[in-house]
Amino acid sequence: MGEETSPDTAAAKFSHRHQPELKDLLSVSDLECSLCIRMFFEPVTTPCGHTFCKECLERSLDHRPNCPLCKQSLREYLKAGKYNPTLLLMEIMAATFPAQLADRKRVHEAEMAELSNLSKNIPIFVCTMSFPGIPCPLHVFEPRYRLMMRRCQETGTKMFGMCMYENGKSFADYGCMLEIQRMEFLPDGRSLVDTIGRRRFRVLRRGHRDGYNTADIEYLEDEKVEGEELAELQRLHECTYQQAQQFCEHGDATLRQILLHRGPLPEKEEDIQATKDGPAWCWWLISILPLDPSDQLRLFATTSLRARLTQLKHILTGILQGREYGHHLADLSTRGRI
Ligand SMILES: [Zn+2]
Ligand SMILES: [Zn+2]
Repeated sequence: MGEETSPDTAAAKFSHRHQPELKDLLSVSDLECSLCIRMFFEPVTTPCGHTFCKECLERSLDHRPNCPLCKQSLREYLKAGKYNPTLLLMEIMAATFPAQLADRKRVHEAEMAELSNLSKNIPIFVCTMSFPGIPCPLHVFEPRYRLMMRRCQETGTKMFGMCMYENGKSFADYGCMLEIQRMEFLPDGRSLVDTIGRRRFRVLRRGHRDGYNTADIEYLEDEKVEGEELAELQRLHECTYQQAQQFCEHGDATLRQILLHRGPLPEKEEDIQATKDGPAWCWWLISILPLDPSDQLRLFATTSLRARLTQLKHILTGILQGREYGHHLADLSTRGRI
């Protein structure tokens, strides 16, 4: 009897040959998330034992702090905010369906790339007027905006568009990109988001994605001038800045409150045409002046620094000549709530 016919070895070979492999026991549908009906991506398992893609579970928890399958409360789980990946499941997926897993990753990457585009289909937060260089603190509690903020973080852009509401349209034709600087998640899923205004844009086309507004946009850029025109612009700039200083120095109690909260008038910039949105102090001033939203929007939309300064000069002259304005100044300490 040779080794090959030894009963033990034969039995071992037999059983090895007929040992069903994991991938024969499983089908891809066993590895599907019940929320997106696709193969799990970054699966997490809740304390009640149910497994979902991390993103799918988070979106469900934006609406209700319960397990989407068994309805058990996940309030404490949400509060802890720790979504540890289900490693064994990830290993099983990699071992059994590597090709499908690679496809799933590619789909996710394509989605992330699409969400990272900052001119096509950008997320639009419809709330308030915001301005280049000016901080804009937000209190986020609507599920659609929780999703938007999370996506801005996950894609790494940390940017979204802010437009104010406009009657008859879903939002105004002009807006400002906001960059997330700090985000604090509250235990119940709401968040406090500190942002700062970046570039201005014009809306070309409106759209929707997963419950929030989106837009195709083009960025605005101040037209540059030179020669005698520039010299004249510099004189106008100098003169308007002096008026802005006077306005800040001679303000009433309301204005003093605002200055305390917002900080002083920003310094002049050496090159007034250095940035695409013009001097930062203009935006600071526009953000605190008692203006009608339509006037604010007009100042915002112009790409002529000369036009912006001329209008500001006109407004400041009116105020400095003694027109009452204090009661028009909004309470700027309030966070934009949405
Ligand atoms: Zn899913
Ligand atoms: Zn459950």
